[in-house]
Amino acid sequence: MNEFNILNKQNKARTGILSLKHGVVETPAFAPVATRATVKTMTNEDLLEMGSQILMCNTYHLFLKPTSDLIERYEGLRGFMNWKKPIMTDSGGFQAFSLGLGAELGASKFEYMTKEQEDSKHVKNKIAKVTEEGVHFQSVYNGDKHFFTPEKSIQIQKQLGADMIFAFDECSPPSADYEYTKQSMERTHRWLKKCVSEHKKLESDQLLFGIIQGGKYRDLREQSAKFVNEHCDAIGIGGSFGKREMNEVLDWIYPFINENGSEDKPRHLLGIGTIEDIFEGVKRGIDLFDCVGPQMIARTGYIYVGPDSEETKTDKNEEKTIGNKENKFRYRVSNARYDNDNRPLDPNCNCKMCKMYSRAYLHHLFDVNEYSAKRIATYHNLYFILNLMKEIRASINENTFEELYNTWMG
Ligand SMILES: [Zn+2]
Repeated sequence: MNEFNILNKQNKARTGILSLKHGVVETPAFAPVATRATVKTMTNEDLLEMGSQILMCNTYHLFLKPTSDLIERYEGLRGFMNWKKPIMTDSGGFQAFSLGLGAELGASKFEYMTKEQEDSKHVKNKIAKVTEEGVHFQSVYNGDKHFFTPEKSIQIQKQLGADMIFAFDECSPPSADYEYTKQSMERTHRWLKKCVSEHKKLESDQLLFGIIQGGKYRDLREQSAKFVNEHCDAIGIGGSFGKREMNEVLDWIYPFINENGSEDKPRHLLGIGTIEDIFEGVKRGIDLFDCVGPQMIARTGYIYVGPDSEETKTDKNEEKTIGNKENKFRYRVSNARYDNDNRPLDPNCNCKMCKMYSRAYLHHLFDVNEYSAKRIATYHNLYFILNLMKEIRASINENTFEELYNTWMG
């Protein structure tokens, strides 16, 4: 159980088989996000037929509702959701920090508090507070007070019963200075040790990922990579960063997660999942991704579309909608220009929605705000990403990943 075997490598990119308690994941893989034990607008059947190998569920939300105690009675998420394939849960730390902060300050989830905001009475009384022991926070649902510690996070994740779990960490904001980022990283390392001992104490057979932090600072990232590699059999890479920073961070940490026979530890890039990021991540040796992005943009009418291909090239008389790095491989079907466009959402996609519905029809559904609009768009976008992962795996196995990369990334 919990074995990772590398199949093929092309430079740093690699394919592998991750064998877990409840099934096998072919990597590189993308995990759709089932925050509250469901991928919004999708059913299990949808997810299985589009080839989802694994889902990412959210510890913070499920702990609060319907509670991890209740889910445990159903033999964990697997029984509760009736999802028979592997599941991973995050540690809950990110939401404990960010939802309190974001909700109270009306800030985006990555926003960093100013000193004045931190000191204001309103904030002091209400939002998440970090101490050496853990995070105090209030439920986004009813304001109840809770306290997450590293141990508690591991206990809750045991109740939720996922195959892969994550150590409790603080995702320091990108605007944090060196000193704060360093302190936060060192605390995250101390928390990691606590997570590892709690995991042992519970005799858990879940695969525990430590999380590399350290923000945009090279020496911190290197230290963190070394630390996590020493303490865990699986490597998570956390943080929030701009595109160039992400690539840089992955380049910095690579030697440290690849030394002394540790190259066969699975590597998960947390919360990352744009098409560009997936290509850049795979190129730098990442095995697993999760992101709400494809689902979230679908619900606002953005449709993924691939790069130019033979089929779209023959489509001479019609205006092309071609995906590229500049348009982030997507167009907005709710735009007026698609109101009479009878082409499928993506002419090169084999998903059932593309076979069945035109852009004009989906445009109309968004226009009149029908539930089915979100469902059709979500299905296509997730299928599109999962199919891309399949193509990426095939290309690495056939030693043509670089060609595929160039076709998409130019
Ligand atoms: Zn499609």
